[in-house]
Amino acid sequence: PYDMLIVGGGPAGAAAAVYAARKGIRTGVAAERFGGQVNDTLAIENYVSVLETDGPKFAAALEGHVKAYDVDIMNLQRAEKLIPAAEPGGLIEVQLANGGTLKSRSVILSTGARWRNVNVPGEQEYKNKGVAYCPHCDGPLFKGKRVAVIGGGNSGVEAAIDLAGIVAHVTLIEFGEALRADAVLVNKLKSLPNVTIHTSAQTTEFTGEGGKLNGLNYTDRNSGEAHRIELEGVFVQIGLVPNTEWLKGVVELSKHGEIIVDARGQTSLPGVFAAGDVTTVPFKQIIIATGDGAKAALGAFDYLMRQPVL
Ligand code: FAD
Repeated sequence: PYDMLIVGGGPAGAAAAVYAARKGIRTGVAAERFGGQVNDTLAIENYVSVLETDGPKFAAALEGHVKAYDVDIMNLQRAEKLIPAAEPGGLIEVQLANGGTLKSRSVILSTGARWRNVNVPGEQEYKNKGVAYCPHCDGPLFKGKRVAVIGGGNSGVEAAIDLAGIVAHVTLIEFGEALRADAVLVNKLKSLPNVTIHTSAQTTEFTGEGGKLNGLNYTDRNSGEAHRIELEGVFVQIGLVPNTEWLKGVVELSKHGEIIVDARGQTSLPGVFAAGDVTTVPFKQIIIATGDGAKAALGAFDYLMRQPVL
């Protein structure tokens, strides 16, 4: 069995693996896709101390760092079930989709999250070519340009307020009849001079030319009329879904499905810790996920030290 088994090999899982291995304990990482969301990222310019890199390079660097230590990397492995220890301090089991079972004295869950897509023509084609999901990451790329934000919940309205300070103009598009964000955010948004809001608007297509996004089409759901907006960027903000479907009823989750953790990354289950985008820790960023992975590994090591045998 492992002393520390990490499920998920994104920035959080990789950081946890390095911290665990440096304690000289038996460490394993099982990941569906090592590198996680970073693989889908083009430029990364906000990992402090690294002025600029790209996703595939950063993912390879994460893997290289983990491989420099004695860690079992089990790539292309999906965890399907977690079985808590039968007695306090006992072995926790993780069942894999391939039928295998891994046992460990502690587990770190770092399965990350995924952005919900609008699923309209052009979305996949212009991903990273004008279609973006993370205002903190990609906002500055659209300095002085025209963008739209899809989604009028808290994250969409926050994104629109944030972007309005950087870009030339923001159009916010909400499918429902009204914005769903907190009133204080909606009032702030409405006070901004370079923001237009369309409600009851269904996005139908992202269009582009020469490999670059140049606009979007939407239908007014009240009149049925089709409209077009010319722009350079679209931020899709209709939800970030934590990868916790397999953990429902096993560890305590928030109403958004995020794993609830304390300041040391401890979940509701003894010996089971969690880190990164999959948790209730706010602001989903690489630098935050890596710090969080380190913290959960130290939290789990502290737990192991307090068990009768380490
Ligand atoms: P993830 O990166 O999501 O990794 C999760 C890991 O768990 C993966 O290895 C996955 O395969 C695995 N996994 C999931 N389910 C299972 C399962 N059941 N069993 C086994 N393994 C599983 N952040 C920045 O700071 N700067 C940026 O410029 C930036 N740009 C971004 C651009 C895009 C397009 C996207 C999508 C995100 C961007 N982010 C950026 C956000 C950043 O990528 C995430 O915050 C970060 O990757 C979170 O790390 P994580 O380790 O918590 O999760």
